Amino acid sequence: MAGRNNSANKFPLVKGDFERNKFHKNLHKSIRLKILLTPFTRGGITQTTSKMQIIKNSNDIYNITQKWRQENQQIGFVPTMGALHEGHISLCNIARQENQKYITSIFVNPTQFAPGEDYDKYFRPFERDCELLRDAGCDAIFAPDAAQMYEEQSSTKVSVSGLTSLWEGAVRPTHFDGVTTIVSKLFHLVPAHRAYFGEKDYQQLKIIQRMVRDLNFPIEIIPVPTVRESDGLAKSSRNAYLNPAERQAATVLYQALQSAVKLVADGEKDIKVLLDEMHKVCEKEPLFQLDYAAIVDTETLQPLMCLEKSPVRALIAGYIGRTHLIDNCGINFNAMRLGNIDSIKTSNGPEPRY
Ligand code: AMP
Repeated sequence: MAGRNNSANKFPLVKGDFERNKFHKNLHKSIRLKILLTPFTRGGITQTTSKMQIIKNSNDIYNITQKWRQENQQIGFVPTMGALHEGHISLCNIARQENQKYITSIFVNPTQFAPGEDYDKYFRPFERDCELLRDAGCDAIFAPDAAQMYEEQSSTKVSVSGLTSLWEGAVRPTHFDGVTTIVSKLFHLVPAHRAYFGEKDYQQLKIIQRMVRDLNFPIEIIPVPTVRESDGLAKSSRNAYLNPAERQAATVLYQALQSAVKLVADGEKDIKVLLDEMHKVCEKEPLFQLDYAAIVDTETLQPLMCLEKSPVRALIAGYIGRTHLIDNCGINFNAMRLGNIDSIKTSNGPEPRY
């Protein structure tokens, strides 16, 4: 999934991942040798991990999580829709480092797709995902089916107002209600101490943080920086939909963000100039249909008129062919340093928490 050029089972390595991968290979080798209890350091505590469990039933995942809590184990949770790539695995690696147990959910949530979107064709390589998660030291996968998660005539939803009507919410009006509803349900079924969300989906991250604050969910939300391909394209399960020409064109999102970052680094503070430059970069790519490019407040996501407060967030979204792509980056113009786009990040660890 980390790009259609990838014919091997697993994603290609990106510089900086070598050590971690070596570790995973060793772990894998030890599993092959049927040494199922391997010494492991997590959350600063060396302990043993047992075989990864694959759980389909919601009562079972709740009981397992509760049992671990009663044993005073710190628990991390990484919600995903599967089709895993290095972006997801970077969340998992941090969850593993910060907790004694971590659970990943794999569930393609129907309620966050509108009719005509890619719910049916969403890639579901379950066996491969399990293998990647086993390599990443995951303790349990929660992989329910839709009937398990939504009772017939399910009629309750969780909705965050304001933040959800902007940007992606304007383009996909029912999307975020689907996200907040399923994440609420997952937080009830997997009562973890912390949950890991990618900055790749920045608006989603902010909406989840708001929901957790407003509804007093007893869980800490940990943001994780975006993992990119070597040419800057943010890794995404949807990149697999792109043909080679589209894949090449898709770097335009990163280039547009970077053009704004560079202008700020050169001292530009006029948001109109930044946006004009982003539009100009986008117009040069005929395969790209821009939905929006914006410089926004990091919390309210409201568009900014001038660069008074720092950091700010640059957002961009649009279509390459029929594939909807989004990206974003932080811009810290006071310090005149680049946001998380100045280097191609692999999964080196989280940015400062919000
Ligand atoms: P998804 O499977 O697309 O729902 O994504 C599951 C989680 O992985 C979400 O918190 C995403 O923000 C995160 N994620 C997806 N792509 C990336 C990426 N390239 N870098 C970091 N996190 C990512």
